[in-house]
Amino acid sequence: MRITVSAIKADVGGVGGHTLPSDGLLGAVRDTVEESGDLLLDYYIGYCGDDVHIIMSHTRGMDDSRIHSLAWDAFMAGTRVAKSEGLYGAGQDLLSDSFSGNVKGMGPGAAELEFEERPNEAFVVFAADKTEPGAFNYPLYRLFVDSLSNTGLIVNKSLAGGVRFRVMDVEEGSVAELDLWEDKPTLEAALMYPGRYVVESVQTKGGEPIVAASTDRLHNIAGTYVGKDDPICIVRTQKMFPATEEAGSVFNNPHLVAGNTRGSHNMPLMPVRLNSAASINFCIPIVEAAVFSMKGGRFTGPFDGFSTPDWDAVRSVAAERARAVRSQGFIHPATLVPSELEYAEGYRARMDVLRQKMVPLEKVGGTELKDDYEDPD
Ligand SMILES: [Mg+2]
Repeated sequence: MRITVSAIKADVGGVGGHTLPSDGLLGAVRDTVEESGDLLLDYYIGYCGDDVHIIMSHTRGMDDSRIHSLAWDAFMAGTRVAKSEGLYGAGQDLLSDSFSGNVKGMGPGAAELEFEERPNEAFVVFAADKTEPGAFNYPLYRLFVDSLSNTGLIVNKSLAGGVRFRVMDVEEGSVAELDLWEDKPTLEAALMYPGRYVVESVQTKGGEPIVAASTDRLHNIAGTYVGKDDPICIVRTQKMFPATEEAGSVFNNPHLVAGNTRGSHNMPLMPVRLNSAASINFCIPIVEAAVFSMKGGRFTGPFDGFSTPDWDAVRSVAAERARAVRSQGFIHPATLVPSELEYAEGYRARMDVLRQKMVPLEKVGGTELKDDYEDPD
């Protein structure tokens, strides 16, 4: 049976700031999806921080206008409640008043995979908040390239043969296909700068899909800052793909990602339980793991992938690293470079004042180099 799994997410409002959706907002999203009749085989609705995700199974293929329209209508319904409740950032990820057939480029993020369902289909949806699509570069590299992180790359015949990455240049809107192992250094060069080059998908060299990730950058779409472009990705697991525990474990070293408070800092990505609020400890970036089985398009689960006791230790590492980064306050690289600052306008205003106060060196007494100055050596 050929199934499509669509994970579509949006931030349409948070309680008291960028924290989590309200019960009313979630209820409106759920009611809309519930009323979709036989369009879907199954669905799951959850949230990561202030981002609501709708995970759907169906037989209509990727980029289907009815599926995308359903998600859009659900987020619009959530927005109406968010506005009525005075939630912060109500409707912030819906960048258009009218739907045009596909949520891509309109604000919500979408990750979709279409495949022939296996007898024991297994997949994990990783949803993140307070960061950007490139946050998955490092874990996906560990999963498919780094055998010190994943022994499956040695002992699993399919993975040992190497996979095909599609990497998107999110500034130019172009995509490169890079094959392991021959393109390894080129892939590494691309993944080095997650703000620009982002893993869009991974498949076997035979074309079997393994990973799909959302790649939209909201501030590229809207032109100005409207909120964080928090990513979501689907990873198929088991058999010829990474084991579920291999896919989860690549999040066990909380790496620094861009985003967090005012979308302007670098902080470690902390694995958290399903349906966690964003932390008000300077918005430490968070990621959740929803682990599913699927049969005939019907979901069993999700199991909460980061809920077991060992992840508490990883959370402690993340909190400690967050404190270390924050200890140097606004000094880069705790903050992002100017071109990546979400509050660029405010920064530019400060820099305008600075520039007005700047005086050419030659006009400053005492610092002028004399004409007959000679270098000592
Ligand atoms: Mg968010």
